[in-house]
Amino acid sequence: MGRWIIPDKLNMVGSVTVYRSEYKSSAESKFIPSAWDNRFIMNLSAVYDIAKNWSIGAKVSAIGGAPYTPYDVEETAVGATIVKKEYERMLQEDARDVIISSCCHSVNLLIQKYFPDALEYLADVVSPMQAHCLDLKKRYPNCKTVFIGPCVAKKDEAEYYEGIVDAVLTFEELTNWLKAEGIEIEQEMDACPESRARFFPTTGGILKTMAKDAPGYAYMAIDGVENCIAALRDIEQGKIHKCFIEMSACVGSCVGGPVMEKYHRSPVQDYMAVAGFAGERDFEVAQPQAMSLKKNFTYIEHKLAMPSENEIMTVLRQMGKFKPADELNCGSCGYNSCREKAIAIIQGKAEISMCLPFLKDKAESFSDTIVKNTPNGLIVLNENLEVQQINTAARKIMNIRSESDVLGEGVVRILDPTVFINVKNTGRSIRDERVYLAEYKKYVEQTVVYDQESRMLVGIMRDVTDEEAARVKKEKISRQTLEAADQVVEKQMRVVQEIASLLGETTAETMITLTKLKESIDDE
Ligand code: SF4
Ligand code: SF4
Repeated sequence: MGRWIIPDKLNMVGSVTVYRSEYKSSAESKFIPSAWDNRFIMNLSAVYDIAKNWSIGAKVSAIGGAPYTPYDVEETAVGATIVKKEYERMLQEDARDVIISSCCHSVNLLIQKYFPDALEYLADVVSPMQAHCLDLKKRYPNCKTVFIGPCVAKKDEAEYYEGIVDAVLTFEELTNWLKAEGIEIEQEMDACPESRARFFPTTGGILKTMAKDAPGYAYMAIDGVENCIAALRDIEQGKIHKCFIEMSACVGSCVGGPVMEKYHRSPVQDYMAVAGFAGERDFEVAQPQAMSLKKNFTYIEHKLAMPSENEIMTVLRQMGKFKPADELNCGSCGYNSCREKAIAIIQGKAEISMCLPFLKDKAESFSDTIVKNTPNGLIVLNENLEVQQINTAARKIMNIRSESDVLGEGVVRILDPTVFINVKNTGRSIRDERVYLAEYKKYVEQTVVYDQESRMLVGIMRDVTDEEAARVKKEKISRQTLEAADQVVEKQMRVVQEIASLLGETTAETMITLTKLKESIDDE
């Protein structure tokens, strides 16, 4: 700092501050400059005295530039190449039965949380994103790594496995950021024959890059959560052996990833876009030791809160279990008891409809309701033509007071059995046949069906007595109208004939008179 003074005239002060601002990310790492490591600040101020006790002044400052942050961009296909080489090594050297690829963090979590028995088959290898960041940190000590891709799950992976990937951005976030900054990127094709691993984000892409020459192994690719779950169930049940399975949670793999969804054109076009960009050979990579690529996958316990007794009882009641005797504990839903099942429903792990007895009861009570309330008469007979079921509408047609009056009785007691015998013997149903039940003075339209499986005859009767009476009445009115019309026409004809005969007589008489008159005039 310095100062220069001319008394009663000028007062100048100048200062220079020199500093360094650096930090270490760990005790072992080197110091690196912070974002405000400008190194110096220079200030110069001057005050000049003018008349009448006034002074004017000025100040100038200068500050060093912010430190330059070197950056570079590389594609994760480099990490993918490292990962696929490790998969190939495992298949050749480790005596493993099933190997599930571990590139998709969502699949890894699925196995860690819900399929712990399949954990031993999950390849204990870092993902391409991690392999690439580890490789970058080795090549550029102290560098920070940012992964940019189509997957939101990668944010969780980066957080879960600290110190490998420093930040994750989705393509969408990057696009929005560039837009906000008004930056447009020129697209250009980066053709490179050593880029086979660019196939990785497509279904089967990992397999496409692999040698697939491990003796006795089958290779397959599965995408979509449902397919992955089905395959994991098979693996847990020991149904799959000697197999390398590429699993992706998204249909179409990462090109069908959640962030890509709204930009989707079509799965085929998506694949073609990637395929046209991939080369035929592997990237040149310095393959790290297998140990440094190891990733430990452990069971992630997800404890769910235990519901209260009240909540359990409420769900049990919804399941039709009102008393302990209703709890059949049959196990057909996969739970040891109805109570366990009710707890699973509350915890969101099961559906109420997964209880077979419940469904059966519900279906039965539903069909009972239909049978009871249908306006059609319904009667069910066994092969001996004995009444097994009869509904209210049928009883009304046949004036039967109560069901118990006829249940188990031969149908002959209430109906002519001929039609039932015919249908049973021929196996041919009768549909909508109109018959008169003389003993009940009722017309019905009857359908009789024989159910071979249950060996039951079902008779459906629609009471059409009113309809029939209306038809007969209408017929009678029509007939009477026709008769009346006939009578009127006949009468009219008679009158016409009479008029005609009268007219004929008069005309003849007139003609005779006129002829006579004409003859007498001629004679004169
Ligand atoms: S398949 Fe889907 S969830 Fe899995 S890594 Fe790719 S984008 Fe992410
Ligand atoms: S299927 Fe239904 S009745 Fe059987 S144990 Fe499960 S909940 Fe209980």
